[in-house]
Amino acid sequence: MDAEQGLPPGALPPGSVIGIVGGGQLGRMSAMAAARLGYRTHILTHEAEGPAAQVASGVTLGAHDDPAVLRRFADAVDVVTFEFENISADGLELLASLKPVRPDGAILRISQDRLAEKRFIEAAGVPVAPWHAVEDRAALDVAVGTLGLPFVLKTTRLGYDGKGQRVIRSPDELDAAFDALAPHPLVAEAFIDFACELSVMVARGLDGGAVAYDAVQNHHRDHILNLTLAPAPVTPGIAAEARALALRIAEALSLVGLLGVEMFVAADGRLLVNEIAPRPHNSGHWTMDACPVSQFEMHVRAVAGLPLPPAVRHSDAVMKNLVGPGEMALWPQIVATPGLLPHLYGKQEARPGRKMGHVNRLFPRGALPGAFGIAAALGPLAHDGSFSEA
Ligand code: AMP
Repeated sequence: MDAEQGLPPGALPPGSVIGIVGGGQLGRMSAMAAARLGYRTHILTHEAEGPAAQVASGVTLGAHDDPAVLRRFADAVDVVTFEFENISADGLELLASLKPVRPDGAILRISQDRLAEKRFIEAAGVPVAPWHAVEDRAALDVAVGTLGLPFVLKTTRLGYDGKGQRVIRSPDELDAAFDALAPHPLVAEAFIDFACELSVMVARGLDGGAVAYDAVQNHHRDHILNLTLAPAPVTPGIAAEARALALRIAEALSLVGLLGVEMFVAADGRLLVNEIAPRPHNSGHWTMDACPVSQFEMHVRAVAGLPLPPAVRHSDAVMKNLVGPGEMALWPQIVATPGLLPHLYGKQEARPGRKMGHVNRLFPRGALPGAFGIAAALGPLAHDGSFSEA
């Protein structure tokens, strides 16, 4: 039987090769989901033994800004996607001239630049925190006038896990922060005294059909995601609005692929989008065990042109990241605790702050407990009270 027959127009038949730029855990879990659907994956990475390369069927080793490397990679694949966003505009253009790139490079370019991102999101009719572009030192004084203090000063590019940003509480801090944060321009954002942080994973297919998972609540520790609660313990109205905003952004982007949308719930209940990431997202890892179709399968389906099933959730869930050597040392207890569903990324060295894996814990729908119940359910991972505010 011809496996292509009967598939939607443009869909990749089983056996096709999905090229993934980036060799980390998001590529690893995408590759595992792709294998389940009968696809092969080929990773562009500089790490021969990295998390994704360990489970993929092929690897192009080299730098993502080397045209010869990009050509070799494109030759080996049927479609290109990303788990890593900071590829150059030239690199994207070259890849797009050789193979379909999903999501489109234009979407990546928006997500790489906080100013372009804010402008795009606002133009789509979705609220963001008040902001001011800071091209030079004088613009920073204007930002103090328009936003008031405190505010958050951020680099527009290459920021992640809280890197590249400072909270400015007094005018004395302006000079040092302006000099320390690079590259310029910067963006100043009003400091949002948020009630909580949410995110929504949304996928959109080649045919324009889009699905959104339930909104989840995220808790960070040292600027790194620590815990995700699914669903977010917010009112049904806020949860519905969060999904609607994420779908609106995906539509405005004409997304083909997967997108994580992070937002703040302000003290008055208003939602403000903080940032978007056109790829699988750490705050979507709960879907691997709590949903029939995980974010990684949804990613692969969208990129391969397959139909997107509903993004339904059969269970409530807590996702706990395993970060650094301290939490990796708990591995023997984690694997010995019934109910904990561990996922490890195959990284050799557990450096401080490095994401080594995560653990999901499921609950029946509607039975997500409060902080004490979550602590009890996480057993050995309730080691430092880090989720006491959950
Ligand atoms: P980001 O790098 O934009 O994802 O920010 C990392 C974290 O810093 C967020 O998850 C928030 O906890 C905090 N943060 C970022 N922007 C703001 C803001 N405008 N107001 C208050 N907290 C913020």
